[in-house]
Amino acid sequence: MNDCCIVGGGIIGLSIARELAGRGVKVRVLARGRGAETTSWAAAGIFPPAPLHAGISPADALTAWSDKLHRLWSKDLHAETGIDNGLLPSGGLYLARSAAGLERLRTDATRWRGRGAEVDLLDARAVMECEPALAGGAEAGEILGGMMLREEQQFRPSRHLDALEESCRKRGVVIEEADVRQFVVRGTRVERAVTATGEITAGTWVLSAGSWTGGLAGAFGLALDTRPIRGQIVLLRLPRPLITRIVNRGLNYLVQRPDGRLLVGSTIEDVGFDPITTPDTVTRLLGVARSLLGDLPGSVVERSWAGLRPGNADGNPTIGPIPDLDNAFLSAGHFRAGLHQSTGSAVLLADLMTGHPPHLDPAPFAPGRPLPPAGTKPPESTADYLARTAATID
Ligand SMILES: Cc1cc2nc3c(=O)[nH]c(=O)nc-3n(C[C@H](O)[C@H](O)[C@H](O)COP(=O)(O)OP(=O)(O)OC[C@H]3O[C@@H](n4cnc5c(N)ncnc54)[C@H](O)[C@@H]3O)c2cc1C
Repeated sequence: MNDCCIVGGGIIGLSIARELAGRGVKVRVLARGRGAETTSWAAAGIFPPAPLHAGISPADALTAWSDKLHRLWSKDLHAETGIDNGLLPSGGLYLARSAAGLERLRTDATRWRGRGAEVDLLDARAVMECEPALAGGAEAGEILGGMMLREEQQFRPSRHLDALEESCRKRGVVIEEADVRQFVVRGTRVERAVTATGEITAGTWVLSAGSWTGGLAGAFGLALDTRPIRGQIVLLRLPRPLITRIVNRGLNYLVQRPDGRLLVGSTIEDVGFDPITTPDTVTRLLGVARSLLGDLPGSVVERSWAGLRPGNADGNPTIGPIPDLDNAFLSAGHFRAGLHQSTGSAVLLADLMTGHPPHLDPAPFAPGRPLPPAGTKPPESTADYLARTAATID
């Protein structure tokens, strides 16, 4: 393979570009939106513990491998570009505010221990000792107890994307703004992409257009369920950092950045291609922050945003060669774990593209694998997840 054109400039496309360019491939990235316009930028940057454990699922194996790679990539990206992506083992605290919530945490703790993660169950007093800023929430009866996952990490998506772009450029990758509308296929080869302003040819193609990948893959006769699942976030600027751990309660979380910024997330909304914030959700998220941390004097709402997670049909992202084509590949559908799984996904696809033995069995991720028939209940990653956690949503 001499040259490759990647459609998509989010974390998945840029990570593949960096990996391929590092292997000597001439890479071009086409992206309709970059930086702050991508879902990758909109994400929180939470990496739950990802130990390898017995009976691990394909998605968990990809996350565990990616987690290891992130530690290496973060160091390499810093050395290559001078940009620190802020990867930080801050720990994650999961809170309950009802007896049922505490029971769920106990079950979760058993599950995490079974996976080899370091877990502590905490009563309300221990939660306050651990994060004194939560005292207001505990005194108001909002916190009955918690679970600590000591290995949980956070990183800064915007900085990581900047570092990836810079590293790609240093490796000779050309990144262009282009809105790909269609592909011209001749026999078993993709010949050209038709964009809003012209046509682009390449020897090899990769589709990594996040939630929009399914629409593009339809041109190749590939049915792909990458439907958009919206998530909203509010960013507060505090006079000083209040907490050190990532604080989770149900679907909601607080992520404290060391510079005083506090991310308050999020939602899981199946509302189509509509990446907007809604006033009621912004108000609700601010209410969550106040219910846990008190009145937050001196805080300012810096901005709010929404992103569209690329949902998938069976809990696994889709990574590999597109069936019946000789020169087209795909990596998409990473739903809630696209940041975390980006490194392993990039190396796996690059291995498949360059003929290296893959580190993971690619079969569970293969494009064209049998998916649940249309109309069957979606997997844990969407509707079941909502149903399971609905009781704990504020
Ligand atoms: C609120 C929120 C919080 C999240 N938190 C986390 C988290 O803590 N940890 C985690 O691991 N994941 C998290 N995620 C999920 C993660 O953000 C996604 O899984 C990941 O960003 C998907 O990356 P991507 O590169 O596939 O898609 P995107 O980042 O959406 O990139 C897609 C790219 O394709 C381009 N594109 C689309 N169509 C075309 C076209 N026709 N022509 C040219 N270019 C095109 C877009 O412009 C863009 O550049 C979160 C997501 C949200 C919304």
